[in-house]
Amino acid sequence: MVFSTFPAPADGCCRERVSFRLNSFRSRRRRRPAAGHHPQPGLDSQIRGVPGVDPKDPQAARSAQPSPERAAPRAPTPEEIAALEASPFAALGLALPLVRAVVEEGYERPTPVQVEVLPRVLEGRDVLACAQTGTGKTAAFVLPILQRLAAEPRTGEIRALVLTPTRELASQIAERVAAYGRHVRVRHAVVYGGVSQRAQETALRAGPDVLVATPGRLLDLMKQGVVRLHGVTHFVLDEADRMLDMGFIHDVRRVVAALPRARRTLLFSATIPSAIASLADSMLVDPARVAIQPAVRTAVTVEQSVMFVAQADKRAALERVLRDASVERAIVFTRTKRGASRLTEQLARSGIGADVIHGNKSQNARERALEAFRRGTTRVLVATDVAARGIDVDGVSHVINFDLPNVAESYVHRIGRTGRAGATGRAISFCDRAEREFLTQIERLIRQRLTETPCG
Ligand code: AMP
Repeated sequence: MVFSTFPAPADGCCRERVSFRLNSFRSRRRRRPAAGHHPQPGLDSQIRGVPGVDPKDPQAARSAQPSPERAAPRAPTPEEIAALEASPFAALGLALPLVRAVVEEGYERPTPVQVEVLPRVLEGRDVLACAQTGTGKTAAFVLPILQRLAAEPRTGEIRALVLTPTRELASQIAERVAAYGRHVRVRHAVVYGGVSQRAQETALRAGPDVLVATPGRLLDLMKQGVVRLHGVTHFVLDEADRMLDMGFIHDVRRVVAALPRARRTLLFSATIPSAIASLADSMLVDPARVAIQPAVRTAVTVEQSVMFVAQADKRAALERVLRDASVERAIVFTRTKRGASRLTEQLARSGIGADVIHGNKSQNARERALEAFRRGTTRVLVATDVAARGIDVDGVSHVINFDLPNVAESYVHRIGRTGRAGATGRAISFCDRAEREFLTQIERLIRQRLTETPCG
């Protein structure tokens, strides 16, 4: 069997068997305290050759067919294996096929949220994590879940459900599952609203192990009997506070009610307001609590400043900022969709190429704009808060708040688009006289005064 070398366990004892296996690694780790690789017999053996396929498992055999764009990976050399074993990711207990994938992503060391969360999920703990986007939280939950799933036989049912508020986030998490899972046999699918259901149904019929979903479309598919969640062993609620802001909390509760009680649950939220704390209480069992930084602290790698500028002068100020050569890739935030579209047109008229994404744009238009931004064809992306939620683009040098957000937490989310994973970034906020109150609220929330930058 391709997923593990130990015999397929009978239903119900998989978790015990895996945790037994992990416990035995942990005791080895105690005997050998120096950082280093903790062998994962089942998964690690796959890396020493092109993963084998049990011909008696037609599903595994099918999924093992190399697709034209994804040829079977070359087996790593003994030196490469030794390097993977020495990786700090392996020291967290991550199996070599997953270490290999993150190394191929160019990650050198785990981020703090990964250091905290990953081993706990591998141990089988529930987790309540206060961590904002940009900290590497997606890998913190995707990697250990893939490892746990890959160590157990496939059931043909959805075994892990990741619920996230926006379609952009859903497709980006799915893309991360594909990237981190490229050397393990775990299938995934993604479902979100705003697009036809047909392709999603086809993907669901293929029997994914992991489903990434937004609440509305998931509930629709559940109602139609297209999705069944009774086989879920791992549930992730991502960006829980955003779910609350967007009015999805009842939908979330309905999804949770359809999940088996015996499951692992991970809840990620940038802030933990009381409604999220009580949701967590109702969903999590003895969770490991991980706070990567105070709930509202902004990334230390972001240099934040405020420019006091009258509303009528903001456009000229923006053009001046954007014409500066240090602006490699910028996201400009406006409060309204109309404002975003108008500003994009005005920038274009001034010869500054920009794309726009907001909730009124079709899914295709949003994805096209994001892709052009990611590739660097577009240097400036104008966005509203909700649409920007899912923007996961490395190398954003500047975030510019053309309008200050009227909800202070949105400021933290917005500027989290830059300074990601330890890179440095700049956040410049334009503040008109009428926005002073918003500025005060933001500074109170982040417990920091923004440096004033001249507008000339
Ligand atoms: P997230 O907080 O999950 O949205 O991740 C933010 C960004 O950090 C993504 O672009 C990831 O590809 C990147 N990332 C995640 N983990 C690491 C790591 N250990 N080293 C470098 N980059 C990472």
